Amino acid sequence: MERFVDITVVGAGFAGMYTIHRARQMGLSIQVFEAGDDVGGTWYWNRYPGARCDIESVEYSYSFDDDLQQEWEWKERYAPQPEILEYAQHVADRFNLRSDIQFSTRVVSSHFNESNNQWVTTTDKGDIVTSKFVVFATGCLSSANTPQFAGATSFTGDVYHTGQWPHEGVDFTGKTVGLIGTGSSAIQSIPIIAAQAKHLTVFQRTASYSIPARNDTIDHSYVKDVKNNYKQFRDANRQQTGAFGSNILRYDISALSVTEEERRAEFERRWEQGGFAFLSAYNDFLLTPEANETVAQFVREKIFSIVKDPATAEKLVPQQVIGCKRLCLDSGYFETFNRDNVTLVDVASSPIERITSGGVVAGNVEHEVDVLVYATGFDAMTGSLLKIDIRGRQNKTLSDAWEAGPVTYLGLNTAGFPNMFMVSGPGSPSVLTNMIMSIEQHVEWITDCISHIVSSGKATIETTEKNQDEWVAFVNAVADMTLYPSCNSWYLGANVPGKPRVFMPLIGFPTYVDKCNEVVANGYEGFVLA
Ligand code: FAD
Ligand code: NAP
Repeated sequence: MERFVDITVVGAGFAGMYTIHRARQMGLSIQVFEAGDDVGGTWYWNRYPGARCDIESVEYSYSFDDDLQQEWEWKERYAPQPEILEYAQHVADRFNLRSDIQFSTRVVSSHFNESNNQWVTTTDKGDIVTSKFVVFATGCLSSANTPQFAGATSFTGDVYHTGQWPHEGVDFTGKTVGLIGTGSSAIQSIPIIAAQAKHLTVFQRTASYSIPARNDTIDHSYVKDVKNNYKQFRDANRQQTGAFGSNILRYDISALSVTEEERRAEFERRWEQGGFAFLSAYNDFLLTPEANETVAQFVREKIFSIVKDPATAEKLVPQQVIGCKRLCLDSGYFETFNRDNVTLVDVASSPIERITSGGVVAGNVEHEVDVLVYATGFDAMTGSLLKIDIRGRQNKTLSDAWEAGPVTYLGLNTAGFPNMFMVSGPGSPSVLTNMIMSIEQHVEWITDCISHIVSSGKATIETTEKNQDEWVAFVNAVADMTLYPSCNSWYLGANVPGKPRVFMPLIGFPTYVDKCNEVVANGYEGFVLA
């Protein structure tokens, strides 16, 4: 295929899908390429057992169409992956989105031609599309990270990554399974795999804090209340730091301003309630180590009370600041280690040395397994972008521009890459929010901007190095006021060897939205329109 459109979009997750809808409303032509064979992005790829949302269903959904949000019926408090995928497919059908998407097609390059201000995008299927604008809706958590262990290719059993799970599912019955990782994906899948497998060995490098999700069938009277006031509910959520949880009771006081008894009673109530409300009791968990330690210690004690074997409990108890890595929500995670068929191997003190044909070697011990599951996460925020050969002015690659870490203005654009936009790019609140709210805000900003450029007869829009350097410094200064940078999280790129250590997401959705609106009100301040 060789053609010209106004906008080329890469990715058909929630971001790419909404971009189609908005572009059509503005009369702009669009071509979307998606590597998968259907819509849904994250929820298309992550089909591992137990995969589900940890933002409540009534919040983790599009708000742009009132009929859609009124008519769709969620079944559980936290929607499982199949239900979210079904929702994405419903949206694609309802707005006839698939006609602008070419599936099973991976974009390999996107180059800006300075002589005519156009982007030329090519795919692994031989397509060449020329467009005035290019939007990377490639996802923050879409590039699977598989550590390169020595001998990995010699393993003779089945190998899976949670982020690339087979559509037909995996039957672990009778299998001896090894699972590497103890982040959110591991914590959701471990209880289910353990219940099925003959034996499960979990290889843990860093113990994670996890709070019970207390998932349940949805409370219909609650849904009715939400739907009666959906707009106000969404508006209130957008006023929260993470763009979710306006219904969570928050005390605007320090954890240290109350007695230990009061604090414990509050933590206990929230532990029973389940979900992210747990970290919202007081206002300074992520600001001072002392406040953080009160809640961290409470969770450690819970782990000791759940896990029967003291040596295993000791290994499962995290030592880092709680919340500086993404907090996990679980359904019976710590309880799973009381099963006779589950073993925990600490690979912090004795890292995985190699994989053999039939096992994993750590600390000079070979753990025999016949199936290996990598729950080792993603090359987050930059991985999918940098896998594409993106070139801006003077043929400069995005990899070169981001050699010392991603540099953007507002997480939307990078200097030297005119008319190129990223949805949920590094430097925007993205992964620290209910991402559908962030996606909607970005897609609306980007499509409004494109419409403005087209209608005002301008050729290009791009930020400057000065603006993006100031923005990156701001994002890091905000993070440095918190405890976030204190541990080796993927927010900092610390999970991928050799990745520059830069805090990538911006903390604080409402102030970010105000800034984006202000930029527009001031004639796209910080951008050059040529
Ligand atoms: P994605 O859904 O990642 O879609 C990007 C798409 O781009 C993918 O389909 C990919 O195939 C495609 N793509 C990438 N590169 C190319 C290329 N070169 N060519 C063609 N196609 C390409 N967020 C929350 O807010 N709450 C949650 O509870 C939550 N749970 C999550 C659970 C899991 C297991 C994971 C992995 C993420 C979770 N997230 C959650 C984050 C989630 O990624 C976002 O909420 C959201 O789905 C992202 O949508 P997106 O369209 O931006 O990106
Ligand atoms: P992750 O949080 O990055 O966890 C990866 C795990 O693999 C970590 O325990 C990591 O240990 C381990 N690991 C990586 N490389 C290793 C190595 N070489 N040796 C040993 N262990 C290694 O990835 P994830 O669990 O897929 O989650 C990623 C993000 O996706 C989450 O933070 C969240 O934002 C989203 N998500 C959300 C949900 C949900 O509940 N809705 C579910 C899944 C994912 P270290 O910690 O030591 O690096």
